[in-house]
Amino acid sequence: MTRAQGRGTIAIHAGQAPDPVTGAISTPVYYTSTYAQAGPGEHKGFEYSRTHNLTRFALEANLAALEGGAHGLAFASGCATATTILHLLASGDHVIAGDDLYGGTYRLFERVFRQMGIEFTYVDPARGPEAFAREVRERTRLVWVETPTNPMLKLCDIAGVAKAVKAAARGRVLVAVDNTFMTPWFQRPLELGADLVVHSTTKYLNGHADVVGGALVTQDRDLRDRLAFLQNAIGAVPSPMDSFLVLRGTKTLHVRMQRHAENAQRIATWLEERKDVARVIYPGLASHPQHALARAQMHGMGGMISFVLRGDLERARRFLKACQIFVCAESLGGVESLIEHPAIMTHASVPADLRKTLGIEDSLIRISVGIEDVDDLLADLDQAFSASS
Ligand SMILES: *Cc1c(COP(=O)(O)O)cnc(C)c1O
Repeated sequence: MTRAQGRGTIAIHAGQAPDPVTGAISTPVYYTSTYAQAGPGEHKGFEYSRTHNLTRFALEANLAALEGGAHGLAFASGCATATTILHLLASGDHVIAGDDLYGGTYRLFERVFRQMGIEFTYVDPARGPEAFAREVRERTRLVWVETPTNPMLKLCDIAGVAKAVKAAARGRVLVAVDNTFMTPWFQRPLELGADLVVHSTTKYLNGHADVVGGALVTQDRDLRDRLAFLQNAIGAVPSPMDSFLVLRGTKTLHVRMQRHAENAQRIATWLEERKDVARVIYPGLASHPQHALARAQMHGMGGMISFVLRGDLERARRFLKACQIFVCAESLGGVESLIEHPAIMTHASVPADLRKTLGIEDSLIRISVGIEDVDDLLADLDQAFSASS
């Protein structure tokens, strides 16, 4: 039996081998739309780049290996990935989703797929697996969760939910987990019973804030074939260059994630002791209501922190403007630290009353902790607290 490789080795080598023609170590960027055929139908397995592109194939194989799955498919964005998966469903089908979704996913469900006759029910993931199982109907086909959620960092018990909904639906439901926040370095949903892992590769997997992309991974060959058909039919594929850049990013995933999490743990602990802060939400803090689940389900706590600043919306605005290293921007997961205001920025498309129910207050701030020197990050936050008070 061959020894199983570590994920750091997988990150660097899976899906990649020196180019057979030249020996190039880096995966060539196959910038071509079409491929020459010796005669009609006489080709080398490559016809057209939406369907066949070796740079994208290398990325797909790499991501599949990282998630511990058999098959990966890459897309032009996280939203394009979700769109493709939702096309497995037909009008009248039902989806159960976590209630604190990425704003763009919520918008896609409510404003695009609801109009096409798909029904959605939202469940607070912190209420546990039975809360999901109770919502299963005859036409429930898909369960969609993020964990930790964005921006409230609520956890979903993946193994528990997969088991409970599959029992309630007698197997005919797919469980999809958006693993963007954790990456396979810290959480592997397929090992916990999920059928599909979904990513916005825009975030940690690429990690350098220079690509918009998405991907999914599954173990199931039949499901992969249905999704590969949709990937090609809908056509929301990533470009060769974007595929190359994400592949370059995954080579350092393990090193980056370790540093993101170390820095975030330091900052969360520091924030918890500040009188300017009413509440800090980070799965790695003992004060997180699901800290025990975080330790059981995740291999690390990630780089995302949310906190409630003492003061009103104006103070929150001043705080964000005063930051110098933390850049005020949407998105997350890059090497540079970002800070944002969910109610005004990323979650503005969530209706105000729902934001309130979810706890997205006017003084809630979300930070994506980068991999800079942590003392510089602490000093930046410190001066922003003073400047805004
Ligand atoms: C960004 C994000 C998405 C959407 O991905 P895009 O690449 O922006 O389309 C989906 N889920 C989560 C958790 C995200 O952070």
